[in-house]
Amino acid sequence: MTRIRDLEVLRRRLRYRKTFATALGASEESEVLYVKLITSDGEVGYGEACPAPRITGETVETCEVVIRKLFEEVLRGAEVYSYRDLWRRMERTVVGNPSAKAALDMAVHDLRAKYFGQPLWKVLGTEVRELETDLTISLGDVETMVRDAEEAVRRGFRVLKVKVGEEPRRDVERIRRIREVVGPEIKLRIDANQGWDRVTAVEVLREVERYGVEVVEQPVPYWDLEGLRYVRERVQVPVLADESVHIVWDLVEVVRFGAVDGVNIKLMKCGGVTPALQLVEVARAHGLKLMFGCMGESRLAITAAACVAAVAGAEYIDLDSPLLLVEDPVRGGVTYEGPRIVLPEKSGLGAELVEST
Ligand SMILES: [Mg+2]
Repeated sequence: MTRIRDLEVLRRRLRYRKTFATALGASEESEVLYVKLITSDGEVGYGEACPAPRITGETVETCEVVIRKLFEEVLRGAEVYSYRDLWRRMERTVVGNPSAKAALDMAVHDLRAKYFGQPLWKVLGTEVRELETDLTISLGDVETMVRDAEEAVRRGFRVLKVKVGEEPRRDVERIRRIREVVGPEIKLRIDANQGWDRVTAVEVLREVERYGVEVVEQPVPYWDLEGLRYVRERVQVPVLADESVHIVWDLVEVVRFGAVDGVNIKLMKCGGVTPALQLVEVARAHGLKLMFGCMGESRLAITAAACVAAVAGAEYIDLDSPLLLVEDPVRGGVTYEGPRIVLPEKSGLGAELVEST
C-alpha cells in the first residue's frame, strides 16, 4: 500500500520574455503554484496550478487555500492509484476552483504512473510520443505582430495562433499582413478571447476567411452561447469554444446549442488530467474537434497536458507557454525541438522541480 502522506506547496513568479497580451488583458509574468505530494515510501508526485483570474476566478492565494483544504479532506492517507475516487471526492468537497484541483489531480497521476513504473502517456494508453504545437502571437500593434510572426516562422513554427479581438479593422489588417509575410503554407489560427460581439465577429471573419484561417477561438463573450451559434451559422471557418467550456457540463450545454465545431481543453479550466479525459470522450462522442491549450504554465503542467493531448489525438496543439517564459524551474518533462514536443521516457511526468533556482 502506497499512501499519500504529505503536501508541500511552492509559489513562483515566472517572467514572460515579452509582455503577453490578449483581448482580456496583458501580463508581464505568470504566477504559478507547485505542489508536491509525498507518499509513505518517499515517492514524490508533482503538480502545477497556473490560475487565470480573468477566466476561472482563481488566484495563487485562493488556489493555495483550496489545495490545502482538499489535501486535508481528500488526499491525506489516500491510495496513489485511486485517481477516479479522488477526483469525485474533490468535486464533492469544493465546487469550481479547477486550477487548484488540476495541480493535485496531476500530482496524483504522476504518483500513479510512478507506482506502475511507466511514463504517464503509456499509462493513459497511447504510444504517441510527439506533438506539434503552434506558437502564439501576442496581441499588439500590427507591425510588432507581423515581426513576431516572421520570427516564429524563421524558428520553424508552421502554425501560428494569432491573438485578435480588438478593433475590427485592425484585426483584419493583422491577419492580412501576417498572411502576406508568412506565405500560403503556414497555418493561421485566430483567437479573439471574447473580444467581439456576434455581429462584429461575423464581419471580421468573413473578411479574413480569404486569407486562409484554420479555426477561430471564442469570438464572443463566454456566456453568449447563442452568439457562438450565430457566428458558426454565418462563417466558413470552424468555431472553437475556449472560455465558454471549462468542465463537461459546459460542453454538454454548447453541444445542445449547436454552438461550436470544437473545444479548447485546458487542464487549468477543467481541473486536471481526469476531467480532461472525460471532456475528450464527450467531445468526440459529439463529433467535435479538439484543441489542447494552456495558460502561462511551465513544463510540468504542459507535460501532463501533452500526455492527454496525445491520448486524445487532438487536432490542434497550443501548448507553447514554456516557450514564452524566461525561466522554467522544471527539470525533465517534455522537450521542445522547434515546434515539436517530445514526451518524456521516465516514469510519471518524468519531471521534477529545481527548487534552488
Ligand atoms: Mg483561447
